[in-house]
Amino acid sequence: MHGSIITDMQVFNDNYVPPTLIVRADEAREIIWRISNKVIKSGNLTDITMIYGQIGRVGIGKTTLAKYAAIKLSEELKEKGIRLRYAFVNAYGAPTLIDILSSIVGALGLRVPVRGASFVETMKSIADYLMVKDEYLLVILDEFQGILLSNKISPDDLYRLLRVYEEIPAGDGINRIGYILVANDVRALAYIREKIPQVESQIDFMLHLRAYSSYDLYKILEQRAELGLAPGSYSHYIIEMIADRYGEDRGGEGSARKAIKALQRAAERAEMRGDNSISEEDVRYALAQDSYAYIDIRMLKALDKHMLLVLYAVARATSERGGWIPTSLVRSEYEEVSSLFGEKPRKHTQFYEYISTLSRLGLLEKGVEKGKMGSIRLSPEIPTDVLLEVLDHILIDKLGEN
Ligand code: ADP
Repeated sequence: MHGSIITDMQVFNDNYVPPTLIVRADEAREIIWRISNKVIKSGNLTDITMIYGQIGRVGIGKTTLAKYAAIKLSEELKEKGIRLRYAFVNAYGAPTLIDILSSIVGALGLRVPVRGASFVETMKSIADYLMVKDEYLLVILDEFQGILLSNKISPDDLYRLLRVYEEIPAGDGINRIGYILVANDVRALAYIREKIPQVESQIDFMLHLRAYSSYDLYKILEQRAELGLAPGSYSHYIIEMIADRYGEDRGGEGSARKAIKALQRAAERAEMRGDNSISEEDVRYALAQDSYAYIDIRMLKALDKHMLLVLYAVARATSERGGWIPTSLVRSEYEEVSSLFGEKPRKHTQFYEYISTLSRLGLLEKGVEKGKMGSIRLSPEIPTDVLLEVLDHILIDKLGEN
């Protein structure tokens, strides 16, 4: 029988926006509150909100936060009888001004020719449409940094786009177009200052997003699993393994995108095996796919044979019982493995030094939290069976040299 673990594939889609944003809920609330407050109190929408991330980090929810805020904002305003629509423009690949206007016109479902028309003509059509329909428009410009760096859009055009109503005063005196700019990192601000300095002071709200911690990722993965996987097909432990691997506080990239992909790959592997639940080994394989050369054979070959025997002991215990292994158990497993290979086990102090070195090399992890103290785990991105096979070969070679 084929396993049926993934119940909703869409949940693992890159563009999926969850029905509630558990992590970043406060940030979403603040964006929504600021804009809705303005629209309700003044009747105008001219806000520019900017979301930017920690330098060098992607998959940390910038786009998702912008989309989620726009969706919820539109729902909340609707309850108050105010119609707000949003247009999502992905500026990846340096679009021209016409490309951007086409996206906006397309999102509104407007039938006006963009190509061949001037900026003013198109913008006027949009503004008139909004006025007649009595609607507001929130434009999300994703990959905004790309627009700033591109020479396909002049600073003047960009300024006109962001400050529409300075060029085209609204027929009824109501401004109806706001923006959420999504930029990679803080450098976007320097580019704004350089290219469109007049806009800098008009940014109403700026939000800096940090990469996710393992706790954040745990929450995000748990929600995805509940939404897209069959009940009982995953454990708390496997979600924690993935969250630990990517959490920024654990030296990972803090990327929700990578964590979600790993969960999907693990689920797919379990399904392919015909199983109805995800095993620890499925997760190890899924994480290994995201690591460069997950087992560095040359490094292993350079290690002392007893260090390799300790690693072998951990791998064996992992394949037998999984999870975090108490050090005392690793010790007895090591003694057993040593005698199996005809070696006399080293003393306790030496054994602990091996554990420390192996953990420094990234092959093992030492438990630091409550409940895990004094326990050891094979690094999550190492598939146990592959490691055992590689170690078998290396150890036989090494011991044969004696
Ligand atoms: P960025 O724009 O920073 O590159 P994205 O917003 O595209 O990152 O997020 C990457 C993936 O992670 C998406 O699939 C998104 O749904 C998911 N994701 C990011 N942040 C969250 C969150 N707070 N809650 C739930 N899913 C999230």
